[in-house]
Amino acid sequence: MQIIRSMTQLTEQIYLWKQARFTIGFVPTMGNLHAGHLQLVDTAKSLTDKIIVSIFVNPLQFGINEDFANYPRTESEDIAQLIDAKVDAVFLPTIDSLYPHSIKTYIRLPELESLHCGQFRPGHFSGVATIVSKLFHLVQADIAVFGEKDFQQLTIIRAMVQDLNFAVKIVSVPTIREIDGLAMSSRNRYLTINQRPIAAQLYQQLQFIRQQILNGERHYLQLEQQVTLKLSEAGFIVDYIHICCQQHLQPASIEDTELVILAAAKLGQCRLIDNICLKIQTLKVDSD
Ligand code: AMP
Repeated sequence: MQIIRSMTQLTEQIYLWKQARFTIGFVPTMGNLHAGHLQLVDTAKSLTDKIIVSIFVNPLQFGINEDFANYPRTESEDIAQLIDAKVDAVFLPTIDSLYPHSIKTYIRLPELESLHCGQFRPGHFSGVATIVSKLFHLVQADIAVFGEKDFQQLTIIRAMVQDLNFAVKIVSVPTIREIDGLAMSSRNRYLTINQRPIAAQLYQQLQFIRQQILNGERHYLQLEQQVTLKLSEAGFIVDYIHICCQQHLQPASIEDTELVILAAAKLGQCRLIDNICLKIQTLKVDSD
């Protein structure tokens, strides 16, 4: 596996792959890799000739009181996992190489970036979209793979690619979970031993909402409030539980059939996010 640290080295490698007409699959990450990331790698491998993974903890997407300084950085373990996974190259840029001066250009998606997590993390999605667009320009991949775990992020990346005509196909991968349902995440290591079993309740409550909707419940606001209360009683500080239409991430109406239940909640030092997608039938109205 090529370990690429400089921009020049990256450009040369991409040039060689393009010249040889290899297709390129790209998996952007912040490192501290787990089975969720490796699933993205496997998906990329099934679709393209060469796979490149980036590991970069992007300062632009962290707020001032967030965990940028403490975000888990485990470079040698990550490299070992990527070698095992038969990845062709890992790109490990420095902050100075990607942001040699304070940047003046930011990608903004006003309709999407201020919803849900954006309300609690102002500037976060602009930081994500900006770094992803920079990486897309550098890597020139045919496909890029993202996790459905970060559903709002995925929606934002898809919108950016469509609006700005990036020549990359976005592929998504379902969330990989621990046995009790907790979505795998690098931030799960912030959970204490006592918090760890409680953390699984977030997914259990999303499943509860899903089941209620499938049973015909359409009082979405009530469901959101009911589950917020249950999670608060279990010790979570709930940022939001939102039942939305999958396409625009707006509050679901009775006519919407493709839904996503989005959630973010803090348990101690750990902010968990999760979601479940579901399809429902519209309620039939007899008109005779
Ligand atoms: P991160 O390193 O957390 O920025 O995540 C890098 C990529 O891995 C993003 O596309 C995430 O959505 C994806 N990802 C993170 N956790 C999971 C998971 N449990 N299952 C599937 N994909 C994931």
